[in-house]
Amino acid sequence: MPLSRDQQDEIDAQRAGSAPTRRATVPALEEILYQALPVLDHGFVRVIDYMGDDGAVVQAARVSYGKGTRKVSEDRGLINYLMRHRHTTPFEMCEIKYHVKLPIFVARQWIRHRTANVNEYSARYSILDKEFYVPAPAQLAAQSASNRQGRGDTLEGEAAARVLSLLREDAERNYAHYVEMLNENEAGDAIDKGRVGLARELARMNLTLNVYTQWYWKTDLHNLLHFLSLRADAHAQYEIRVYAEAMLETVKRWVPLVHDAFVQYRLGGVHLSAAGLAIVKRLLAGEKVDQASSGLSAREWRELMASLGRE
Ligand SMILES: Cc1cc2nc3c(=O)[nH]c(=O)nc-3n(C[C@H](O)[C@H](O)[C@H](O)COP(=O)(O)OP(=O)(O)OC[C@H]3O[C@@H](n4cnc5c(N)ncnc54)[C@H](O)[C@@H]3O)c2cc1C
Repeated sequence: MPLSRDQQDEIDAQRAGSAPTRRATVPALEEILYQALPVLDHGFVRVIDYMGDDGAVVQAARVSYGKGTRKVSEDRGLINYLMRHRHTTPFEMCEIKYHVKLPIFVARQWIRHRTANVNEYSARYSILDKEFYVPAPAQLAAQSASNRQGRGDTLEGEAAARVLSLLREDAERNYAHYVEMLNENEAGDAIDKGRVGLARELARMNLTLNVYTQWYWKTDLHNLLHFLSLRADAHAQYEIRVYAEAMLETVKRWVPLVHDAFVQYRLGGVHLSAAGLAIVKRLLAGEKVDQASSGLSAREWRELMASLGRE
């Protein structure tokens, strides 16, 4: 369970309130505002705040004075056009703020996205919770033989059991050493009153990378879509992809027209190189093309054929 009773009570109290506003609100997103959407074994994503809606993208693109009186179909057409032609600035007019709880090794990948505002839980100031990510058996994959950054078949039987027990043992042992060095219990009281504990900023250094951290992460819709195009992609590591997928669902609630355009033209589309396009043209003309005659490397050929569904 990613939330304690107190945390859930705080969320419920915030969800019970509402405030009148002249600004655009989106009922489907309001429905899940503040709620923790579970991800992995102890993580979550919560939408904390947002600004704008599909209309805000359209409004900025038209630089209009009010909401306008166009039909939804016209707004959809305009949003699709903007997405297709990478006219991106109107998407920057919408903002969203998330609260995310995630394993440290996932946070290291995530933080590479520099176009967001981030405030992370301070392990200099506070004690990290005893919560670590242990993959579900279905995610215990072997190293891929063909892709150095990928996963192969799933480990099974004794091999899987051994990996799970090592992950748990190492995390438990290191966390126990963390607490020993801190010499503090969860309430902040000394465990051994006759001993001085190590500073929190130092004691944390031996924790395993599967320990959970938390942050507030705010970004605009354009940069969020860039993040999702990389991290909701099938090639992204599973552990960050599941966060991206949860966030994509929030985008669907928030800006459905933008979501559909994004899925159509970015997430579900493919980018072809000039050589790749030439091969597609040759194939359409009925020519028989193989890797040797394509001029592509074996890897690029494999990727192109996978994109075309001809694996
Ligand atoms: C499948 C995959 C594998 C990866 N493997 C590795 C790896 O092995 N090693 C590794 O170090 N990283 C790796 N990364 C991280 C990757 O290189 C990027 O750092 C990360 O995806 C963030 O992308 P970004 O810079 O486009 O995003 P953001 O930081 O959000 O930036 C968005 C855009 O803003 C612009 N921008 C932002 N900051 C600058 C800047 N300082 N200068 C110029 N333009 C800027 C760029 O156009 C950029 O695309 C991997 C990412 C993926 C998805």
